[in-house]
Amino acid sequence: MRLHILSKNKETVQLSLRGFGVWRRENPGLLLSVLICGIADAVTPYVDIWLLARLLDEIAGGRNPQLLAAHALALMGTNAVLSLLCAGLTRWKNVPLSCLWHTQNKVFMEKLLSMDFADMESSYVQELRSRIWQNTDSGGWGLYKLIDCLDAIIRSVMSMLSAFLLTASLFLMPVTEGSGRLTILNHPVFILLMAAVMIGVTFAAPLFSVKAGSYWVKYAAENQLGNRLFGFWLGSLGNDRAKALDVRIYRQDILSRSNLKKYNPFLPTAKLARAARGPMGGYQALSGAVSQIFVGAAYIFVCLKALGGAFGVGRIVQYVSAIIALSGGLSALIQALGDLKNNTPFLRTVFEFLDMPNRSRSNPESMSVKTDKGYTFEFRNVSFKYSGQEHYALRNVSMTFHAGQRLAVVGMNGSGKTTFIKLLCRLYDPTEGEILLNGTDIRQYDYHAYMQLFSVVFQDFRLLSFALGQNVAGSRNYDRDKAAQCLRDAGFGTRLDKLRAGLSTSLYKDFDENGVDISGGEAQKIALARALYKDAPFVILDEPTAALDPVAEFEVYSRMNQLIGQKSAVFISHRLSSCRFCDDIAVFHEGRLIQRGSHDALVGDRAGMYYQLWSAQAQYYAAQEESVQM
Ligand code: ADP
Repeated sequence: MRLHILSKNKETVQLSLRGFGVWRRENPGLLLSVLICGIADAVTPYVDIWLLARLLDEIAGGRNPQLLAAHALALMGTNAVLSLLCAGLTRWKNVPLSCLWHTQNKVFMEKLLSMDFADMESSYVQELRSRIWQNTDSGGWGLYKLIDCLDAIIRSVMSMLSAFLLTASLFLMPVTEGSGRLTILNHPVFILLMAAVMIGVTFAAPLFSVKAGSYWVKYAAENQLGNRLFGFWLGSLGNDRAKALDVRIYRQDILSRSNLKKYNPFLPTAKLARAARGPMGGYQALSGAVSQIFVGAAYIFVCLKALGGAFGVGRIVQYVSAIIALSGGLSALIQALGDLKNNTPFLRTVFEFLDMPNRSRSNPESMSVKTDKGYTFEFRNVSFKYSGQEHYALRNVSMTFHAGQRLAVVGMNGSGKTTFIKLLCRLYDPTEGEILLNGTDIRQYDYHAYMQLFSVVFQDFRLLSFALGQNVAGSRNYDRDKAAQCLRDAGFGTRLDKLRAGLSTSLYKDFDENGVDISGGEAQKIALARALYKDAPFVILDEPTAALDPVAEFEVYSRMNQLIGQKSAVFISHRLSSCRFCDDIAVFHEGRLIQRGSHDALVGDRAGMYYQLWSAQAQYYAAQEESVQM
């Protein structure tokens, strides 16, 4: 995606102010501490310069011992006090400053967590998110850059103000009449010319530097891609436990040097590196050269004036230091403003992401969920297409479901079973048709209250590397007895008894070396316990048992069927045997609901899909019957 290099200043101001707003809200105290610390740091050297000039003037002039001692004491005392003050202020600033990374991640993470599932999953959001991370990683661009720029702007403005106060008299103090040709230095035209050259040179240096910085923007898209691929190659492929096995068996030349070279944006052959050797480096060198010319010119001007008797040695130090600082301050200001401008497209990406509407949670008129008189769900002619997909994952599905019912949803892989559940759980909105709860479109209900209705165990459920009990409860503080009971009910009791730290045992070793690794079957029991702990009125098992054999899956499903008592439940499986205890079976095929009824009724329909699937899978049931009888 192309970044616009030339961004309008208005947009720069608007986005930067919004960015500062984010920092002010999320990290109170940060902006104020940067402001005050910047002022103190910037002004301090000028107090020194001024006092030092007075001391040198006295050494070169009157040499009054008392005055000399007073100047020296003032210099040392002020220095000590100001240094102490600056150190204290820096410490104050460093606390919120050290939280920058954390704060920024928190902002993005909260956005991701509150975003509609469909949006979060979309490639558009993934791309945005990845670009933001790459921009921050590669050059601190985005929200981060704002703090650097603010710091630089405050310091440079204060530095320029102080330097200006110390420099102004340079142009006003004339050389003496008897200094021959040097009297030209008193001429107003010469003074103006000198000032103009100095200002011109001062502007030129940072402008070249900003021009050099614009190459970051120019190659941002390519850099981001390279950075991602490089991260994948060197970061993820080698480190990710989940991929380690496959990589070892199938890696072939994936990790070869030529691949690493091809996708590495940090090698000398990358475009940014070539630009750094070419025009980008050229502009940077020009910027440095112009600055040095300025310093030379300032020295000559000040020394000539001193030679003409305009002032003494102390003032030479004062003016030279102040002019260089003035120029440095102006350069830093232009550089910071240029950085702000270059940062505009990166901030645009940040706010494109943060401004994405959280539709399902932002309905101000959302209704509360009332299920005291029971509930009825109805799919009314629902069709659904995943974003960017041609074909429908669900087509014209109409069905009703009442409280307390047990429904089995069966069908081949890819027939739309999971999609049906995801729509019911409001992870996606139907493309056509509507889903009603007690006659009202589910989108009208308060999102959080609605989500409380469901305990779902998905096929690709994930446990977190936290304590076992926290995993079960989904919370840091939880009812330990209830968590333990749920684990026992889910069949994890024997293992729980063997865990030394019980519910406090960490799962996996990511954050705790005493953490335990758990098998797939154990993980699944914990996931079931998590569903039981939530105690929602509606339990859904979406093939979390797919890795088990049919016999084991049937046992898990039957057990859950008993455990959930009077609750409503949906059991999903592509293996018909797993759900045959359900009186109500819905058969999906190619996104359509094609049959519904009890096992006996469906298996009796010889022309139906259920019968076909049942016959095709019969070998498993024979094995199952045998094992159950044993
Ligand atoms: P089942 O649960 O019966 O195996 P799914 O509901 O997972 O079936 O899938 C139904 C169809 O939707 C399949 O063709 C599948 O490839 C497609 N599909 C599922 N998830 C996505 C997704 N996130 N993006 C695009 N297509 C998807």
